[in-house]
Amino acid sequence: MVKEIRIFRCSCNHRLRYGASSCSYCFRPTPIWNRWWLPLVLVAVIGAGIWLNRL
Ligand SMILES: [Zn+2]
Repeated sequence: MVKEIRIFRCSCNHRLRYGASSCSYCFRPTPIWNRWWLPLVLVAVIGAGIWLNRL
């Protein structure tokens, strides 16, 4: 059984399942930092910045 990761809370105080694009309680869109791909994008952007600075 996979344990659900719940880090952030919605503005309705519902604990958001990590990676969900909308709250399962009030169906409002979740903040951008609740997306599972955000760390990947951040790593890619930071990596590209470091790589460009070395040119
Ligand atoms: Zn909500």
